[in-house]
Amino acid sequence: MSNPTAIGSTVIDTAEIDALIGDGPAAWDAAGRIPVELLRKLGASGVLCAEIPARFGGPGADPLANGALTAHVGALCSSLRSIMTVQGIAAAAIRRFGDREQRRRLLADLTSGRLAAVAFSEPGAGSDLSGMATRIRPVGDGSGDVLVTGEKMWITGAAYADVILVLGLHGEGPDGAAVVVPTDAPGVTVEPVPNPLGCRAATHCRVLLDEVRLPAETVLGGGRQPLPLLFTTALSYGRMSVAWGCVGILRACLAAATADARSREQGGVRSADHQLVARHIAELYTSERIAAQVCRYASEQWQRGATDMGVAAVLAKQVAATHAARGAAVAVQVLASRGYTDDHVVARAYRDAKAMELIEGSTEISQLILAQHALDTT
Ligand SMILES: Cc1cc2nc3c(=O)[nH]c(=O)nc-3n(C[C@H](O)[C@H](O)[C@H](O)COP(=O)(O)OP(=O)(O)OC[C@H]3O[C@@H](n4cnc5c(N)ncnc54)[C@H](O)[C@@H]3O)c2cc1C
Repeated sequence: MSNPTAIGSTVIDTAEIDALIGDGPAAWDAAGRIPVELLRKLGASGVLCAEIPARFGGPGADPLANGALTAHVGALCSSLRSIMTVQGIAAAAIRRFGDREQRRRLLADLTSGRLAAVAFSEPGAGSDLSGMATRIRPVGDGSGDVLVTGEKMWITGAAYADVILVLGLHGEGPDGAAVVVPTDAPGVTVEPVPNPLGCRAATHCRVLLDEVRLPAETVLGGGRQPLPLLFTTALSYGRMSVAWGCVGILRACLAAATADARSREQGGVRSADHQLVARHIAELYTSERIAAQVCRYASEQWQRGATDMGVAAVLAKQVAATHAARGAAVAVQVLASRGYTDDHVVARAYRDAKAMELIEGSTEISQLILAQHALDTT
């Protein structure tokens, strides 16, 4: 049955997405891969970065509609949702920092099935991205070309990506630059990290950049932007996307837990009628409601360009990730042995949700930002 959802100026049929995803996620998780043709198809239909405006070939979703779509996909497959997140981050950075020609060319690419990843983390720069050592240096021979050198870690989706948006220091710094690196350029090596805990089919990669020579037009806006502005832009979109993805995780866990509690009987009593099991269901329901409301609030702040929109994204990610990690553990508790195999939706959620407390600013870094905001404003 068709289930069209109005997303900006386009209608994205979520039933069509459901049909494309089918029962793939457990098998993709086990194989550590999503079929790349499926990713290209979803990319070309605008699902992977739905906020790209119609004039650049995208669906033109507003943040709230994109959030709803992200939660929908997040309930089905966190690996696929992770690919949405990085494609969306790349699009947001191109929109913010690209010049007119870069926006026209690169955003059209991202809505025609080409895939992007985003690289800011490095072995020595995780929570503290000011420690970035990657350099984007002008060659200085009059060609305008740049040489990109560095090592990036945990780059989600890089195994599928046609291009990686690499953040680094421009020249000798302190300013930064974002450069669009084709993964088939000489000097680029992409190595998937083996055996990740969760989001296994998203792929997380080490990316080596060995004097990768690229033309000037690959550097967004010519470079020389403040490094914190570059990574805050990337992280803010990522936080909203991950937060909505966590709402999806909670919805999948709540559905699995209620279905099991209704059908399982022990000691002649339905699980749902054991009051301590009912408490778990109440906790999961509460978590889903809280996460959805804080995400809705953050998306509304983004929609109206509120001054606290960046902090609202941190708040949404912090609340939703914490509830998703706890909620997934609660769901496994409700299902007990029935949820205790790697291919079960709650087991996958349990592994996937843990990552959400680490990425786009860990729980601790989010708490520091929120504490500072509270101290500054109250
Ligand atoms: C599944 C996954 C996907 C990822 N995808 C990407 C991607 O696509 N692109 C990309 O660039 N990166 C990606 N990353 C990297 C991610 O952004 C980093 O892992 C994250 O920033 C944390 O850095 P770290 O792992 O080096 O931990 P560290 O920074 O070493 O932190 C270790 C611990 O110390 C705490 N800590 C650190 N500093 C402070 C402080 N000042 N105060 C209090 N506590 C502190 C942290 O919260 C954490 O608990 C991904 C990581 C994972 C796990």
